[in-house]
Amino acid sequence: MSTEPIVSVRDLNHAFGKGELRKPVLYDVTLDIYPGEIVILTGPSGSGKTTLLTLIGALRSVQQGSLKVLTQELNGANKKQLVQVRSKIGFIFQAHNLLECLTARQNVGMSLRLHHHIPFEERTTRSMAILEAVGLGDRVNYYPDNLSGGQKQRVAIARALVSEPSLLLADEPTAALDSKSGRDVVEIMQQLAQEQGCAILLVTHDNRILDIADRILHMEDGRLATDTALHS
Ligand code: ADP
Ligand code: MG
Repeated sequence: MSTEPIVSVRDLNHAFGKGELRKPVLYDVTLDIYPGEIVILTGPSGSGKTTLLTLIGALRSVQQGSLKVLTQELNGANKKQLVQVRSKIGFIFQAHNLLECLTARQNVGMSLRLHHHIPFEERTTRSMAILEAVGLGDRVNYYPDNLSGGQKQRVAIARALVSEPSLLLADEPTAALDSKSGRDVVEIMQQLAQEQGCAILLVTHDNRILDIADRILHMEDGRLATDTALHS
């Protein structure tokens, strides 16, 4: 592909703790993700997947190596630059992380609040439209307590994608769901991201959803194994 990658990682190393307690968790990770690509990251628990995802999401500081997201180098980036990068990324976690005291629409609208240029009315319209798109048009005024696990995760997808990010990072988004809801959630994610031209990096143990990937990466003990291209 000749286009610029949206994520470009070179020889990234990461360790937790200091001194005798220092524990390396990522070793020389190198990887590129291109616009619109769906990349699945698998690997045993504790292999470093979440650490890599939070580094790419600018939620953790880069210690060593190069990590460019949307052309911004995150190694050495200042707070303002990190906030800027984060605003172009959608996040979906294993637990939906919805605010219990807000309705589905308000939860989705929250993620647009960072985007000050969007007027309040438009934030509401866009929140409603994306909830409609994930099949929750009749649940916009429901509180998370009154939604099923799959519905909550669909609200989380709506919240992650309402600002039309260039990159979606999803960490085991189907882990708490039964296989049918898990499949539905991932298909909705795939469809919306494709419509928006959004790249996806998805961590999963769920073998039933591997087929949505353009590429599958495998992580073992903090190292990325050579990737497998599925199509083309
Ligand atoms: P995975 O998502 O593949 O299960 P993680 O990236 O969560 O793996 O963890 C990789 C390793 O780093 C594990 O050994 C874990 O215990 C350790 N680790 C993760 N987060 C922290 C932290 N905040 N402090 C110390 N060690 C951590
Ligand atoms: Mg993890």
